[in-house]
Amino acid sequence: MTSRPQVLVVGAGVSGLTTAVRLAESGLRVRVRAEVEPGRSSSAAAGAIWDPVYADHPCVGRWAARSYTVFDELSRSGFPGVRVIEGVEACREPIRSPAWTETLPGYRDCRPEELPAGFASGWRYTAPIIDMPPYLAGLQDRLVTAGGELILGERLRSLGDAFAEAGLVVNCSGVGARELVPDPEVQPIRGQLVAVRNPGLGEFFAEYTEELGEMTYLLPQGDVLLLGGSAEKGAAEFRADARITEAIVGRCAAIFPAVRGAEILGERTGIRPWRPTVRVEHEDLGDRHIVHNYGHGGAGVSVSWGCADDVVAAVTPLIN
Ligand SMILES: Cc1cc2nc3c(=O)[nH]c(=O)nc-3n(C[C@H](O)[C@H](O)[C@H](O)COP(=O)(O)OP(=O)(O)OC[C@H]3O[C@@H](n4cnc5c(N)ncnc54)[C@H](O)[C@@H]3O)c2cc1C
Repeated sequence: MTSRPQVLVVGAGVSGLTTAVRLAESGLRVRVRAEVEPGRSSSAAAGAIWDPVYADHPCVGRWAARSYTVFDELSRSGFPGVRVIEGVEACREPIRSPAWTETLPGYRDCRPEELPAGFASGWRYTAPIIDMPPYLAGLQDRLVTAGGELILGERLRSLGDAFAEAGLVVNCSGVGARELVPDPEVQPIRGQLVAVRNPGLGEFFAEYTEELGEMTYLLPQGDVLLLGGSAEKGAAEFRADARITEAIVGRCAAIFPAVRGAEILGERTGIRPWRPTVRVEHEDLGDRHIVHNYGHGGAGVSVSWGCADDVVAAVTPLIN
């Protein structure tokens, strides 16, 4: 791109790339700037199962439903990293499934003999599972095909740096928004997963929980099985923690013994950008405009397409 962009997107995680793809495919000249390349962003560490629970905003249900539809289309078209598979969510207590699951394709209550030992209730449904490194690479390719430009490796010190390049900025800086905006409401929640050689699981399994914490889940991605997970509030350390790895493998193996002894291929760690409510919002600064899209906590992949559509709707009337 030789001319000045109409929109500068800050961030090349799942929020920034999805939004930039939508903006570029709507015909705008888009430039993305990010300190960290997509494959090393926190987004690359996500599991990532479609699950609208771990982010808060009145629109989360709508954003997630829209994203489910897009992921379903992407899986049918063979887009890198996108699968829609069946699986089970289960609870050690005898509870009813949450209402949002009951509208999902393939939903039904599990029969007792379908549940692993120690679980008293469970339900099946079909959900998108995204293998993030190839998926982010696919989004990057799609952005370039649509005429978008990507500049990586430089940290913007302020939004002023961004406005020097375009009068319209879309802020998808994840946990970076804490300093960039600045927005003290953004808090880091570190997460770690373990990748093992898949001993043969074809379905996902997740222990039911409504809170980010010590979660137990197994997400099959072909030959790789991702085991989860952890959530350390306030922590922003990318280095893998061997004790967390051991605890995750132990919890998963207690439910699926085949996991014990599976070759460990490595860990994935990232920082969830938690905020009391997701911020998707236009800020009018007179002669300049910013549209924010950050603070998606533990559900940024699950809401990515819905949020991107809302950003496009906010940006379009601002282009003259
Ligand atoms: C272990 C783990 C498991 C998860 N599992 C799931 C899951 O199963 N399902 C799900 O939906 N979600 C999941 N999540 C949450 C999801 O990963 C996040 O919500 C999502 O990745 C946030 O994406 P983002 O693009 O907003 O932020 P990021 O991926 O952090 O991207 C931020 C971008 O902004 C750039 N940036 C920031 N500040 C600056 C600056 N000053 N200058 C230039 N560039 C800047 C960064 O370099 C980066 O490119 C998980 C997260 C983790 C860590």
